[in-house]
Amino acid sequence: MSPEPPSPQPTVLVTGGAGYIGSHAVLALKQSGYNVVILDNLVYGHRDIVENVLDVPLIVGDTTDRALLDRIFAEHEISAVMHFAAYIAVGESVTDPGKYYQNNVHGTLTLLEAMVAANVKRFVFSSTCAIYGIPQEIPITEDHPKAPISPYASSKWMVEQILQDFDTAYGLKSSIFRYFNASGAHPDGGLGEDHSPETHLLPLILFAAMGRRENIAIFGTDYDTPDGTCIRDYVHVCDLASAHVLGLQYLLDGGETDVFNLGNGNGFSVRDAIEVARQVTGRKINVVEHERRPGDSTVLLGSAEKAKKRLGWQPQYPELSDIIAHAWQWHQRRHGM
Ligand code: UDP
Repeated sequence: MSPEPPSPQPTVLVTGGAGYIGSHAVLALKQSGYNVVILDNLVYGHRDIVENVLDVPLIVGDTTDRALLDRIFAEHEISAVMHFAAYIAVGESVTDPGKYYQNNVHGTLTLLEAMVAANVKRFVFSSTCAIYGIPQEIPITEDHPKAPISPYASSKWMVEQILQDFDTAYGLKSSIFRYFNASGAHPDGGLGEDHSPETHLLPLILFAAMGRRENIAIFGTDYDTPDGTCIRDYVHVCDLASAHVLGLQYLLDGGETDVFNLGNGNGFSVRDAIEVARQVTGRKINVVEHERRPGDSTVLLGSAEKAKKRLGWQPQYPELSDIIAHAWQWHQRRHGM
């Protein structure tokens, strides 16, 4: 259920639109009748996806490039910005924090300043449940204390605070989305997750199923959970994309800056996910038990009641089996195995 855009169709600048979640958002925007321009530096994004699937203008460049941003806002009549461009590897952010603050914070700040200069005052921001740190209560709601434990999470939390200040000072309004575990792929098969290197659980399980890897390593089997492995809340990337379109519509309708969790509120352990993948793929998946990965919370589970009530968000694919089936279809097509 996509909201109708006002007429004439506004143009949305999507940063990181050649990446995983950004590309799904671009498709959802197009299907809802918006015009889209992508800004992506293609460090991790995929040109082939933009050219062969999304078919919208692609500007290759960085959000830290103020002169480029000024040109984009001068040449296109941009009504709003959806901002996905960011580095996302938690482990790398610990060893190379400068890279994360430079791109995720400085890049976003440069983008926001260019927006203010161009009088573009609506911003949809891709944040993360990682800003909550170690949960004090489950399910996590938006007012849970913020205690980021990695430079990646800190960079997202800093931007959220900057956004509050830019609203106070300049009236720039934001819809901020804190995702739980983004996963799955477009059911049509043309879009999906293709990170290099891949660090996320579900694609790595599927790589083991298709023989691209020998096994899947379970990081920690001694957690205080029923089967000893960590529990996560997996949310379909198309459901994230539809939330962003709703968040945009909310701002275009005059909505105030607000923040929304996006998750299904269903917890699956690492072993659960492997078992569902075995059923969906019908393949053998070899497992090795590994020590804990530093920085992992035992349970991350979100309440998305606010997004449902305020934005009318309704996840279309809440079942883990659908999420894994769509990802499986994508990986088989992308990697031909
Ligand atoms: N995980 C795992 N093996 C892997 C990758 C991840 O056991 O090869 C676990 C990880 O420790 C966490 C869960 O799977 O408990 C989800 O990890 P992921 O990196 O996908 O997402 P995160 O929750 O860290 O954002």
